[in-house]
Amino acid sequence: MQQKQKSTGLVWFQNNLRITDNNSLFEACKNHEKVIAVFIFDVRLFDQKIFGFSKIDKFRTKFLLETVADLKKNLAKLNITLLTYFDFSDALIPNICKEYNVDEIYVQKEWTREEVEILENVNRKIPSEIKITETYDQFLYHPNDIKMSFNTIPKVFTQLRKYLEKEISIRNEVEISKKPIENLVENTTKIPTLTQLGFDHFEQPTKSAFPFSGGESSAEKRIEYYFFETQKLGVYKKTRNGLVGTDYSSKLSAWLANGSISAKTIYWKIKEYENKFGPNDSTYWLIFELIWRDYFKYISLKHGNSIFKIGGILNKEYEWNSDKDKIRKWIDGETKEPFVNANMIELKKTGWMSNRGRQNVASYFAKELELDWRIGAAYFESVLIDYDVHSNYGNWMYVGGVGNDPRDRKFNIKLQAERYDGDKEFQKMWD
Ligand code: FAD
Repeated sequence: MQQKQKSTGLVWFQNNLRITDNNSLFEACKNHEKVIAVFIFDVRLFDQKIFGFSKIDKFRTKFLLETVADLKKNLAKLNITLLTYFDFSDALIPNICKEYNVDEIYVQKEWTREEVEILENVNRKIPSEIKITETYDQFLYHPNDIKMSFNTIPKVFTQLRKYLEKEISIRNEVEISKKPIENLVENTTKIPTLTQLGFDHFEQPTKSAFPFSGGESSAEKRIEYYFFETQKLGVYKKTRNGLVGTDYSSKLSAWLANGSISAKTIYWKIKEYENKFGPNDSTYWLIFELIWRDYFKYISLKHGNSIFKIGGILNKEYEWNSDKDKIRKWIDGETKEPFVNANMIELKKTGWMSNRGRQNVASYFAKELELDWRIGAAYFESVLIDYDVHSNYGNWMYVGGVGNDPRDRKFNIKLQAERYDGDKEFQKMWD
């Protein structure tokens, strides 16, 4: 009698680069005897430019490489091999399915145009028996729990926040209970090097506010440090507008952006902290900020590709310019505003900028220089270590007056500098 083939699940990792609370991995381990995993450094990400900026620069690339290396180690402990390639995802996935007799592909559900196109291409190329299971796994509040259709999502943040806090429960983390059988497949693939991806080796300046490395393990260490060892979480609301050092805010954004930690894991860690040390304004405020993150994801679910259009989701017709010299001066920190300059130099040298800095430089770009906000957003996309499509384009639209700011504010840069950098400590650091 012929032995029945063991069924194989393929977890195609993208922006969900973790083993804890990973729904795709959880489902694959539950449903299949054999599980393999793949991560592809898609050539398009490293080749293409928007408004003249590469889609990913050296800071995020290095962080991503560290993240994938950590994932590979963690997956091996679960008997799962991570195959890694530098190639075109949609060309490669069908071949992997064939080579490893894959029955089902598991991916995090994405809805922005480039990701959707790639998955559609894969779907066209694989045999119809291979199922693709997509799950939203990047939210704090799961989209399937929302009792309204995406096009009725409230325009204003506070309305959505109140609805979510009142009506929706945050799900528990998923936990893998069944390891796949010993199925480490022979793996001749290697994680590419920074040089192979087109960048020279570099070190972060010692004064960087973001000296951290990528990977789930370092995200866990950061939480341990920020929440439990130092209890900085307990004063977060007072320090979160800071500019200098590693601890004024959680710094969790880069790990959240590539999914090496889930928003739910952070939430449940905050609850653990509250049980131990008591809740306060600050513990709530970190959750509040995570809801902002969800909000921009819901706005992009609602409005689709409008988040990339010049008129934004409001379809506003402003006069924008694209003066090359003004853009260059903004990037190089040579504007007439020292506070803008210091923030822009920090970004250029480290890939990091505080939330206070981002709001000021974006407002200056769009509202003072009246430059096409999408160019500023594209520069951020390239350089930011924590770039996230929804948070980046959502915040840029918001600050640029084509998004959801009910007050359409313009920042007074000088006042902001006095208020948040009165002694010029930050400006002296990055002059
Ligand atoms: P904390 O203050 O510790 O907040 C905790 C978490 O809450 C963050 O990690 C983040 O996930 C979320 N959060 C906080 N503020 C916001 C916000 N305004 N919008 C959405 N989520 C928020 N954030 C990104 O993660 N990726 C981006 O590409 C990005 N681009 C931005 C562009 C502009 C123009 C502006 C004004 C903001 C942008 N932000 C972006 C939001 C915010 O600046 C960063 O999330 C924050 O500075 C990250 O630092 P932290 O992790 O220490 O934040």
